[in-house]
Amino acid sequence: MRAGTLRIKSFRKKNDDGPVRVSMQLGAREHHLFFESKDIQLAYNMDVFLTLGFVPAMKHADTLIVDGEVSPRLLESIYTLSGIYRSWYPSLHDITIEKAVPAVKTDIREQRVGLFFSGGVDSFYTLLRHCDEITDLIFVQGFDVDIDNDDLREKTMTMVRDIGSHFGKRVIEVRTNLRLSFLEQYVGWGILGHGPALTCVGHLLYPYFKRIYIAASDAYKDTLVFPWGSHPLLDPLWSSETLEFVHDGCEADRVQKVALISECDKAMKSLRVCYQNRDGAYNCGRCVKCLITMINLYTVGALDRCTTFDAGLDVREVSRLLILRNKSGDGYVNLKTSLDELERKKDYGDVYKALKPVLNRPRWRTKMIRETRRLGCQLNNIFNRMKSGENQDKVAGMADFSRHD
Ligand SMILES: [Zn+2]
Repeated sequence: MRAGTLRIKSFRKKNDDGPVRVSMQLGAREHHLFFESKDIQLAYNMDVFLTLGFVPAMKHADTLIVDGEVSPRLLESIYTLSGIYRSWYPSLHDITIEKAVPAVKTDIREQRVGLFFSGGVDSFYTLLRHCDEITDLIFVQGFDVDIDNDDLREKTMTMVRDIGSHFGKRVIEVRTNLRLSFLEQYVGWGILGHGPALTCVGHLLYPYFKRIYIAASDAYKDTLVFPWGSHPLLDPLWSSETLEFVHDGCEADRVQKVALISECDKAMKSLRVCYQNRDGAYNCGRCVKCLITMINLYTVGALDRCTTFDAGLDVREVSRLLILRNKSGDGYVNLKTSLDELERKKDYGDVYKALKPVLNRPRWRTKMIRETRRLGCQLNNIFNRMKSGENQDKVAGMADFSRHD
């Protein structure tokens, strides 16, 4: 259901070094967002808001009010962006942008080149490919590390700063709640949200950067098939006259990327891909992303050299993977490149034997197993709650008994 207008209700910045705070209103809902960095002075500007609000507005509003100066190039690109999004997702619609005043920014201070860096395969690949040009690594807390997970943030930032020091790059950490407090309430993070989220943070840095690299998730052959929130067609269109976004790395598939980074010892001692971080693990070695990367590393003969996984590759866990065939964002493409490479190398060992049935399983069967596991988990939770309730009753009974003793 459309909620009318998306607008900024207020924004404030107490001092030059303080956080940027934005209050946004969509229909009756108000969202309070912040952006902060101890490493650089963030530059509030309306390109940030246009980038951040455009996709949610295409889904849930008719009008986006951008009351201020915006980049003419970005404003012109909005119509192309709209056409791409609508061709991919027909449920999205055209919106009206009001009050935007086209103006080229002139207060440029430096000409640095940044890379959004998470320590994963894609961003390591882009760092190694453009190491001479890149001056800064940019890490955003609140995207794939939860805004409240201070332990993991500490571990991750230690790694990013160590990589920065090793390669002679500055490191910029930006914290924001835009993912949980706004974007994910309106659009899916993977399929729509994370590209605009990255470029929105990039626009906060515009006085210092002429170019910022965004590491590609997919190779060109796959980007033609799978729409995704960060995409070679989309990311450059979020650029302004003074800041260019480059979607980088589509020339290589996942196995080719892992092969390149496996030649770098520092990458093999720092790689971070886990999204579950069970028990605070840096890479749990059990979640889908960990397993996919471990299989990719095994494929290129580098698994033993990568020291950042908390567990070895367990082929029983591989055979339990539930991957939908030809599904974007489900890991299918990254695993298929490994399977193809193992076949090419005639490595028909345990990993191949475990992986092949997973990727050949019909989609209906994968969905059925997923549903069965989900119901099993629910029943287990109910059973555990009942059991703990029984125990509490027993404890309460004992307490009553002791009181009467
Ligand atoms: Zn993991």
